[in-house]
Amino acid sequence: MRVFVTRELPGNHLDRLREKGVQVEVWPGWTLPREVLLERVEGVVGLIPTVEDRIDAQVMDRAGPGLRVIASYSVGVDHIDLEAARARGIRVTNTPGVLAAATADLTLALLLAVARRVVEGVEYARAGLWTAWHPKLLLGLELEGLTLGIVGMGEIGRRVAQRAEGFGMRVVYTSRTPKPLPYPFLDLETLLFTADVVSLHLPLTPETHRLLDRRRLFSMKEGAILLNTARGGLLDTEALVEALQSHLLGAGLDVTDPEPLPKDHPLYALKNAVITPHIGSATTRAREGMARKAVENLLAVLEGREPPDPVV
Ligand code: NAP
Repeated sequence: MRVFVTRELPGNHLDRLREKGVQVEVWPGWTLPREVLLERVEGVVGLIPTVEDRIDAQVMDRAGPGLRVIASYSVGVDHIDLEAARARGIRVTNTPGVLAAATADLTLALLLAVARRVVEGVEYARAGLWTAWHPKLLLGLELEGLTLGIVGMGEIGRRVAQRAEGFGMRVVYTSRTPKPLPYPFLDLETLLFTADVVSLHLPLTPETHRLLDRRRLFSMKEGAILLNTARGGLLDTEALVEALQSHLLGAGLDVTDPEPLPKDHPLYALKNAVITPHIGSATTRAREGMARKAVENLLAVLEGREPPDPVV
């Protein structure tokens, strides 16, 4: 039984597979060329891909009829063709929960960075421009009293809400279904024109693709902040650039569309856009937890048990 893991993973959880006699092949490179992915999946029973790997029908067919499980090293599964997996009887699993605290922390880090112009301040100091204290230097926004609108109240959204309460923010949210939570549930349109900060925490699906289109981005409050630590495809990037030039105070983005952004992308030229390279879950604890979950899910399917985190 051979399993292909598309990147080296933190921790030693893959040893559990080896102990069970599974042959584990780990791709040692920083990136994985498509042709190599197609070659390496041939004949595997299981695959542990990351968000960087597009797992479509072609990959599944190259793997062949022995492929039983795709245990994604992520909670989002928009890089996997779920219909193609379903049609072939391949199980798909993800890693919910273990990365929620880490991603919520990064969301708050981006919010503070935008509101308090932290990156501008660091660049200013590094450039040797810090020659004096001045009452008007780098004035920003304080969080206390602002309204945070959470779009997608799941594992990460809930943790962002808890953290924001600690900063004295008022929380409102929208989701597919209202939750038994002490925050007002609003429809998306009302949330967008009510919130001072809008934070996206929903999955990218055909239904949510470009949910924040031009009209919705410009329906946000003038001077509002947009945070996206979910998926770049949830919004219209071109319209966001325009909104940042005229309408919004700033944006904190851990994910982009396209991703990665090309070096000369207009978003990089905007001082009010703080961009991190998709590091929401990048803590040792979260990344080891994701490895543990991917292995548990994969083993469950190979051993004929129901996986703990089934998607398909
Ligand atoms: P989750 O627990 O499944 O929560 C997602 C929430 O989105 C659910 O509560 C769901 O609502 C809501 N939702 C789904 N479709 C919706 C729609 N059409 N309109 C409004 N709400 C909708 O997932 P999570 O763990 O919080 O993760 C959320 C997303 O963050 C993931 O899908 C992933 O893409 C992204 N993510 C990014 C990073 C990063 O590194 N930046 C790390 C982890 C996750 P209901 O509960 O009402 O059905």
